[in-house]
Amino acid sequence: MDTLSNSITYIKGVGPAKADILSSEAQIYTFSDLLEFYPFRYIDKRIINTISSINETTEEIQLKGKILRLDLIGSGKSMRMEGKFSDGTGIISLVWFKGIKWIKDKLKPDTTYIIYGRPTIFMGEYSISHPEIETVNEYNESAKLHYYPVYRTSEKMKNAGLNSKGMTVIVSNLLEKVYDSIDENLPQNILEKYRLISRKDAFKKIHFPLTEQDIIESKRRLKYEELFFLQLSIVSSKIKQSTANKGFIFSKVGELFNTFYHNNIHFELTNAQKRVIKEIRNDCRTGHQMNRLLQGDVGSGKTLVALMSMIIAIENNFQACLMAPTEILAQQHFKTITKMTEGLPIKVALLTGSTKNKEKQKIIQELASGDINLLIGTHILIEDYVIFKQLGLCVIDEQHRFGVAQRAKMWGKNTTPPHILVMTATPIPRTLAMTLYGDLDYSVIDELPPGRKPVKTIYLPESKRLSLIFFLKDQIAQGRQVYMVFPLINESKKLELKDLMDGYDRVAREFPIPQYQISIVHGQQKQNVQDIEMKRFIDNVTQIMVATTVIEVGVDVPNATVMVIENAERFGLSQLHQLRGRIGRGSNQSYCILMTGEKVSNEAKSRINTMVNSNDGFIIAESDLKLRGPGDIYGTRQSGLLDLKLADLSQDEAIVKVSRDDAFKLLDEDPKLEKPENKPTALFLSNMKNSRNLWGKIS
Ligand code: ADP
Ligand code: MG
Repeated sequence: MDTLSNSITYIKGVGPAKADILSSEAQIYTFSDLLEFYPFRYIDKRIINTISSINETTEEIQLKGKILRLDLIGSGKSMRMEGKFSDGTGIISLVWFKGIKWIKDKLKPDTTYIIYGRPTIFMGEYSISHPEIETVNEYNESAKLHYYPVYRTSEKMKNAGLNSKGMTVIVSNLLEKVYDSIDENLPQNILEKYRLISRKDAFKKIHFPLTEQDIIESKRRLKYEELFFLQLSIVSSKIKQSTANKGFIFSKVGELFNTFYHNNIHFELTNAQKRVIKEIRNDCRTGHQMNRLLQGDVGSGKTLVALMSMIIAIENNFQACLMAPTEILAQQHFKTITKMTEGLPIKVALLTGSTKNKEKQKIIQELASGDINLLIGTHILIEDYVIFKQLGLCVIDEQHRFGVAQRAKMWGKNTTPPHILVMTATPIPRTLAMTLYGDLDYSVIDELPPGRKPVKTIYLPESKRLSLIFFLKDQIAQGRQVYMVFPLINESKKLELKDLMDGYDRVAREFPIPQYQISIVHGQQKQNVQDIEMKRFIDNVTQIMVATTVIEVGVDVPNATVMVIENAERFGLSQLHQLRGRIGRGSNQSYCILMTGEKVSNEAKSRINTMVNSNDGFIIAESDLKLRGPGDIYGTRQSGLLDLKLADLSQDEAIVKVSRDDAFKLLDEDPKLEKPENKPTALFLSNMKNSRNLWGKIS
């Protein structure tokens, strides 16, 4: 067994009680866990602050001085020890609620101490509660250790003596014990290429740096290691998956494709579209199953790419299907695709929850006989009774609405799994996509078709509502339509539904019938009610659509030119961007208007600024990632995938990229990591996979 997987109870100074607290409070079970429990910052011991310099903004500080007096105050539960501490520039109170006896015995007058802590102000006086205290002795006076590591420790840990100082003691005991047996786990050529320090030195230096350089070098090495093994793990399972699954070969791109290309589309494909189609064509010729993620901002023309890929499948005598997350979207796809394939020998059908039984039976039959070439539908397509003659390609639109399990069900439609193309309009920064979807191939359409008028985004505070109404009336008078979105974030909350209904009442008063007609859509309506309301808006029977974010996905009403978002401060960036994607689809200038209440936090202000200043989904996603951190986005927190200890996907983009390239290169040269020089890497990887089985769930 690997030394570092030993239990922490074997460390000097860690008895059963401390071991329990370390594991329950900080998930530290093994030697490795403790070594990877990194300080989150350091106090430079050479810097001694003065009491006179303390002000409201002071964070943790270090003072050097003497205890003037100690007093026991109060009794029973509220008993505390209070000390007066002076450094010659002023006096500050020190307070202890626990360990009072120990303090009384230990602290002596006329002795110089160094104390660390964070001053707080109470009744106009500064005090530090439970400061960390050491005597000045030869060891620290000669300042062998310049940097004092500060660990994130909980209240329970502190009470058990596992404050930063206590952690330092056990980490140092551990390092003394195992330093020589910490093996290198990175290949030699990588160490040399980036001049990375050894693993054992990295642990020593990150916990006990002597210089600033030590901190930089150790972090660089450990971040690289963390990301490299994450990528290695993802890349190796991706390679395994793509070579394990045989796939259909679409060898022919001929008459059908060319006829469509020359006769049925009346515009030039963007370069990005051409590139992605080429990537898909190549995938479908290898004999392995394609699993590709296609990402493109709203309106970038993903549907067309999907259609052309499906035509290739059909040309090679396979069937294709397109699965959409809602009935409305499926209907829209059916309408556009039927129109776009006019005159071609392609039979398109639509199957959704509301397809009448008789029609459904007919579709099922024609699907089994192969008469239907292209089936469009909702998640009903994954039902077992939907059987294809030979399904070659399955396209899944707006993939974030489908679970992984649903996707996997599509695989079972044939003995050989169909090629899978998942499409999403949620912009994901590249670094994150490479990690999150690392085992899918990744294509991106990063270019909009020419001639689009960018949406103008405007921020309006509540006090400008009158001018908003005036503006909306003017747009409607010009024949345009308007969305008004309310923040019903938790669709099940009655209280928030009331907000929406109040909003609706207000809109109805300002835009009275019969001159104005209003649709309303929210998640608590039955699907068919939603569909009817939506259809009235699509058909321009209603001019105003009052809705929750249920409308954020996919609907295409080119005549709608205004998106008003109420309480915009309550939406996340990617949601705001997604909502804005509903407009700007026609030839008229479109406007996104962000309204806010009175109180707006700084973070919300910065989200609104980002929206006003940029139309680019990727810039917005990057900014979102920086504002919130990756854990909160894309529901990745539960997956544990992004539980990185040191690296940060939003900050360490460069390391993500090189480590991924290095992982590919290594596996390319030595697919099973069998070469002697790669043994340590292979061993570490397999230990890691055994101990945290995180990646299997993502496909
Ligand atoms: P997405 O699904 O990516 O949001 P769509 O495929 O619905 O985008 O495309 C949006 C609109 O742009 C459609 O009306 C489509 O016909 C049109 N379109 C697609 N590609 C091009 C292009 N290269 N040039 C001009 N218009 C395009
Ligand atoms: Mg679309």
